[in-house]
Amino acid sequence: MATGQVRKSSVTEIKTAESKKQKFRQAGKNTVKYGDCKVCESSVEADDKGIECEICKQWSHANCVDIEDNEYEVLTTHQKGTIHWYCDDCNAKSVEMVRLVFNIQERMLKSEKETENLRNETKAKFEKIEADYDAMKADIRTLNKKIDEGLQRCFEDSDKLVKSTQKQTINEIKEEINEAKTSSFAEIMKQELEKSLDGMANEIETVKVTLNETKTDAAEARDRENRRNNIIIYRFRESDAHSTEERKKQDTDACLELICNTLEVDCRPEDIKQVIRLGQRDRETNERQTSSRPILIEFRSYTTKNQVMESLYKLRNANAHFRQLSVTHDMTKMERSEIQKKVEEAKQKESEETGEFIWRVRGAPGSLKLVRLRKRQ
Ligand SMILES: [Zn+2]
Ligand SMILES: [Zn+2]
Repeated sequence: MATGQVRKSSVTEIKTAESKKQKFRQAGKNTVKYGDCKVCESSVEADDKGIECEICKQWSHANCVDIEDNEYEVLTTHQKGTIHWYCDDCNAKSVEMVRLVFNIQERMLKSEKETENLRNETKAKFEKIEADYDAMKADIRTLNKKIDEGLQRCFEDSDKLVKSTQKQTINEIKEEINEAKTSSFAEIMKQELEKSLDGMANEIETVKVTLNETKTDAAEARDRENRRNNIIIYRFRESDAHSTEERKKQDTDACLELICNTLEVDCRPEDIKQVIRLGQRDRETNERQTSSRPILIEFRSYTTKNQVMESLYKLRNANAHFRQLSVTHDMTKMERSEIQKKVEEAKQKESEETGEFIWRVRGAPGSLKLVRLRKRQ
């Protein structure tokens, strides 16, 4: 197979037996054996026209690999390293390899292109992501700003709200306090006033009662004082004289006779202030009254009256006309009530006696007392 295929290579250099021989000669060597021929398997001597495969480094006889003498001459003398020779095996492989290399180159180019595309895509994506990120950052900043502003507003609003609420609450509390103050003050004042008024009313009532009691007492005292010097004589025979003057004169004379003669009390007419009949005179008939009205004698002095009262026991021995008389103090209603009570008391005490004693009321009104007396036979 005619070869001498020319390939440019800066790495390898074609080696022929002749070119080697020249190099050996320069080094002073004459006999060299290069190896066995790849085709005929006999040794390739220095004198043989041999050639080395640039790839597998195996020697072959030039005529075994169909290299003509002139071709061999060109290959041997060529110095520039631009002509290459490969054995048939390596040549076949090298074509395959070159195709492979092309393929690889193509694939690499494709890959590079893809990588470039990918890089570009990635870059674009990155740029987009970056842009998005920037935009997002800007958004976040805006959002943060808004949140800050919102929070600020919120704080301000809540602050205002709190302040206004506080103010309102304080005002409400103040109002309540004032109301409470006013109402409680008014209530207290009212209660105090009511108390005072009640107290005053009670005092007034007490005063009234006291006053009434005092009045009553005073009236009673006056009444008693007025009656102090009086006596009342019951069953004292009434005059049938027609004129009042005459009847009065007869009564007065009769009384003086009783006091002076029977009771033996020193009493002159001027010691007697007045003598009067108590109650209405019965005018229906001109006949003598069946019952005499009580006669009241008012003395000038209490002494005279007292002497009269203390001398009443003399009536027992008086004539029949005077013996039937009953003489008493001129008592007030209260004194009569008092004496009535005393009489009841005396009756009670007498009922408790065995029969030998009796109980009587003695003394003047105001100083009444019960006395126990032996029953007369
Ligand atoms: Zn050979
Ligand atoms: Zn080879």
